[in-house]
Amino acid sequence: MFRSRSLVLLLCCAAVVGLSGFAAYRIAQKQGIEDLQATGLHRLDLYAASLEREIGKYAFLPGTLDLEQDVIDLLSGAADGQVAERVNIHLEKLNERAGTMSIYVIDAGGRVAATSNWRRTDSFLGEDLSFRPYFRDAIANGSGRFFGIGTTQGDPGYYLAARLAGGGGEQDIRGVAVVKVSLEQLEKSWSTVEAPVLVADENGVVILSAVAGWKFTLLRPLDERTRAAFDYTRQYNRRALQPLGMREIEGDGHGAQLVRIAGEAAETVSVYPVSGRFLAQSRALPDMQWTLTVLSQLEQVDSLAQSRAALAAIAAACLLLLAAVVAERRRHLRHRLAARETLQKAYDELEHKVEARTADLSAANQKLQDEIVERIRAERTLRAAQEELIQAGKLAVIGQLSTGIAHELNQPLAALRTLSANAGRFLERGDAETARLNLVRIAELAERMGRITGQLHSFARKSSGRSSPVRLGQALDNVLALLEARLRRSAASVERKGPPREPVVMCDPNRLEQVLVNLVGNALDAMAGQPQPRIELSWDCADGVVHLQIRDHGPGLSDEARSHLFEPFFTTKPEGDGLGLGLTISAGIVRDFGGSLQGTNHPDGGAVFTLELPLADHHG
Ligand code: ADP
Repeated sequence: MFRSRSLVLLLCCAAVVGLSGFAAYRIAQKQGIEDLQATGLHRLDLYAASLEREIGKYAFLPGTLDLEQDVIDLLSGAADGQVAERVNIHLEKLNERAGTMSIYVIDAGGRVAATSNWRRTDSFLGEDLSFRPYFRDAIANGSGRFFGIGTTQGDPGYYLAARLAGGGGEQDIRGVAVVKVSLEQLEKSWSTVEAPVLVADENGVVILSAVAGWKFTLLRPLDERTRAAFDYTRQYNRRALQPLGMREIEGDGHGAQLVRIAGEAAETVSVYPVSGRFLAQSRALPDMQWTLTVLSQLEQVDSLAQSRAALAAIAAACLLLLAAVVAERRRHLRHRLAARETLQKAYDELEHKVEARTADLSAANQKLQDEIVERIRAERTLRAAQEELIQAGKLAVIGQLSTGIAHELNQPLAALRTLSANAGRFLERGDAETARLNLVRIAELAERMGRITGQLHSFARKSSGRSSPVRLGQALDNVLALLEARLRRSAASVERKGPPREPVVMCDPNRLEQVLVNLVGNALDAMAGQPQPRIELSWDCADGVVHLQIRDHGPGLSDEARSHLFEPFFTTKPEGDGLGLGLTISAGIVRDFGGSLQGTNHPDGGAVFTLELPLADHHG
């Protein structure tokens, strides 16, 4: 489809180019022929004038001879030999002066009576020329004109003849005076111009031409009568007259005749070619029945027209090419614009999408921020809850300890009461020494009670939860002191085992104590009722971590207890004794400090709880 369209387009372009060339050719040819015509007409005028002038120069000359008495006498036949010689000499001189070919007089009988060439051997003196038309014309009409070839020397020339009359007027015909003029010079002058010119007589015989080869050729065929007349008048001295080979050709001469002259009849003259196509312009010469023809060659017109045609075709092709380039450029521009538009659209779409995405992202981000804030708040709440829980756990422990503590305090209180009462009595008795000892004892007891309440107070206070280096031994001491009453009551023994270098862990001391109180408390609970409960505390340090093991010799962890050990509110203890939060809280505390808590059974019986905590010196 596209191919056939472009083929049609190509054909159209070719047609336009061809038509432009053809039109330019025709226009240029028309113009050229018109120019040639104008120049030709001008030349025709010029040549005709020059020919007439050349002939006119001598027109009067033969007529003047009847003014010569000797001539009249000679023609009258009344003259002697001397007169004849005088006339011959006169004619000879006249011929020389006038520059004509020959001048001679013919008597009424047609015989040459005297001639300028009388001295020459080939002189036609005495010859009978009555057959020559100019003689007969002159006798009949008074003057005769004739172009012909000389009978004796064969030189072509123009014969101007005039009747010579004696004193008796027109009836007194004595003879005819003839001047033969050469038109050779004229011909030669024609040969220098560009266009060949020829003069043909009434029979179509070329009599004058700058081209030698064209002379005495025929423009048209002769009829038999004319041929016979030529033989008789010996006008062309019995030359064989060949056709020139000029024929009219078809074609638009724009009012003039186009002819072709065949090559073989032509002869190249230096100035112009004499064969080919010509524009022939003719005009009849007055008084002579001759036709002057100027042949302007069409070759130049043709080549000019061809080059114009080529130029026009090239110009048309260039214009078409330009149009094609412009069209292509516009198409390209259109495509570019379309592409740019598409790009812009895509860009706008993208921008919209980006905007939408950004909005989504902003919304998502906002949501995230809100969530984070919410999380932080929740975490804070959780932490607060945890703190509360830890505190609650601690208070629960205190609650558990309270019975023991009350008992611990009651005993010294009773002792205080007794000692103070006794001290009073000893003072009354004047036994100051015993009273003093009692007071010392009282002070000791008060100090002990203060220590117990101090420990309790220290345990019960709300701790910050911030890490600091804590000596593990110190923490164990505090825990055992806190549980001292319980341990004593249950007659439990505690064994401490570990490397001599006391480990220092990173922890909150109060919370660590809370954990340890829980673990030791659970161990004591597990061994309740045993006659000699035993707790083993052992530790070792490796890779920046301390492993503290609390082992008891109780029944160990049941399967159920092992699987729910750190779950809140899991307890196997009777109501009021356990809340099931101790291990949960302890594990949470340990996790907060980057450690861990695990519980399992010892192969030899009893439960083992392992507490892992980071070592302080490892923290740098
Ligand atoms: P509570 O002591 O209030 O019961 P805990 O969380 O401290 O809560 O302990 C949970 C449970 O784990 C106990 O009820 C007990 O069944 C079990 N348990 C804890 N320590 C030991 C131990 N040393 N020996 C045997 N069982 C233990």
